[in-house]
Amino acid sequence: DLVPLRRALLSVSDKTGLVDFARALCNIDVELVSTGGTAKSIAEAGLAVRDVSELTGFPEIMDGRVKTLHPSVHGGLLAIRDDAEHAAAMTEHNIQPIDLVVVNLYPFEEVMRSGGDYASVVENIDIGGPAMVRASAKNHAYVAVVTDPADYPRLIEAIKANNGSLPLSLRKELAAKAFSRTAAYDAAISNWFAEALEIDQPKWRAFGGRLESVMRYGENPHQNAGFYLTGEQRPGVATARQLQGKQLSYNNINDTDAAFELVGEFDPVRTAAVAIIKHANPCGVAEGGTLKAAYEKALACDPVSAFGGIVALNRILDALAAEEIVKIFTEVIIAPDATEEARAIVASKKNLRLLVTGGLPDADRAGLTVKSVAGGLLVQSRDNAIVDNLELNVVTKRQPTQREWEDLKFAFRIAKHVKSNAIVYARDLATVGIGAGQMSRVDSSRIAARKALDAAEVAGLKEPLTVGSVVASDAFFPFADGLLSAIDAGATAAIQPGGSMRDDEVIAAADERGIAMVFTGVRHFRH
Ligand code: 5GP
Repeated sequence: DLVPLRRALLSVSDKTGLVDFARALCNIDVELVSTGGTAKSIAEAGLAVRDVSELTGFPEIMDGRVKTLHPSVHGGLLAIRDDAEHAAAMTEHNIQPIDLVVVNLYPFEEVMRSGGDYASVVENIDIGGPAMVRASAKNHAYVAVVTDPADYPRLIEAIKANNGSLPLSLRKELAAKAFSRTAAYDAAISNWFAEALEIDQPKWRAFGGRLESVMRYGENPHQNAGFYLTGEQRPGVATARQLQGKQLSYNNINDTDAAFELVGEFDPVRTAAVAIIKHANPCGVAEGGTLKAAYEKALACDPVSAFGGIVALNRILDALAAEEIVKIFTEVIIAPDATEEARAIVASKKNLRLLVTGGLPDADRAGLTVKSVAGGLLVQSRDNAIVDNLELNVVTKRQPTQREWEDLKFAFRIAKHVKSNAIVYARDLATVGIGAGQMSRVDSSRIAARKALDAAEVAGLKEPLTVGSVVASDAFFPFADGLLSAIDAGATAAIQPGGSMRDDEVIAAADERGIAMVFTGVRHFRH
């Protein structure tokens, strides 16, 4: 299964490591064939290289749109060498076999990411490159294909170790990598079109991503993990710049995403907001005043759980907030940006990861979310309902007070980001008790109240902050019991989607206890 390497075709946009690799191939007498820019780089290094036009007898035309799309190239890549008919065709048409293909593609993703205009993004859709990559990967029985400059050094080692050949096992591995590259490339193109045309339908989309990094492990130490980027250009964890700290873990990325999407609900011009996240659920969120004040209010909700949490901010991290945050062990801070002073303060914690995103995600943007199930992907449009855009109906005799209104909207905004069943108590624009992920809504209600009691004890308060709070529920109360347990905990107003068969009972219970209740008409399940 060893094919001696006699001829290599090199055609690369990213010329990293090209000359060294070409030289190493020259040194073992591999003939180099190459396209315009690549051939120029190789020739300038003083190495012998044939232009691909010489092979095809056809010039590069149409600004390079057609340079390697020719039977002489693709015949040389696809021929089954020991098939008599294929061999005869090669002889008849004077096709020379190509044993090694070194290609990386037009930088479509980079041009898209740097905000290139429509025409230049389209021009950067590589056609001939993927065709060669796919042809040689298909014909890996005879051809080796290299798509990643990071592989050059180990390939040279392998070629030397195998007397000028590459073993079949390695050619298969390279083929697998090549197809994953072209799949990711086409998925990025598909995603770009979907975004450019504002197509929000899964049926028009390809799903895939380009491997960005390999993590030490996945959700648990015995699981492998990698981070794939779809190329979508949204401010968030995938596009953020990490200014310092250890590599992000699988769980960090998941939690940081949840944290930043949550603070994206708060317009930074209107208010400062801070969220502290553990296991993808908020354990404290607050808005208003300075970032420092919001952080302190968020922390007070559940200071025990906040240990080792992720902190997201909707405004530029300043020194005062940074000083507070570094006081306890925090895994990640993510914000649109950070001042020089704040960066210096965070730098005192070497391991603490600081991510800056350059902006906030739009909470009401369109887009898709994807979740994997055994053998499939579940795709849906993202939950972009935001409380400001909903028709809110007061269903009780009592209207909420102005203060209750603000807290109700705040609480419903948070409930959207809490795993179902979600119950959120809020007071003075801060969460004071969060019940998440329970199989029964009453349990979530009780747990949230219980946590508020714990927080009161830590803070040395006489009564929990749920007294005089409002409560939000991500879905309707199926019975009055969940609501009654919230009223027992001290809630004076409630917000929920409504729509239960027993809404009348629930409303009657609210009226009897003199609380105000608002229906949103929209549910925020999050599983
Ligand atoms: P060069 O810098 O050598 O002129 O061009 C290298 C790039 O051209 C590589 O990224 C390769 O994938 C791409 N390429 C090679 N052949 C073709 C072709 O026939 N059409 C197009 N559009 N791109 C090609």
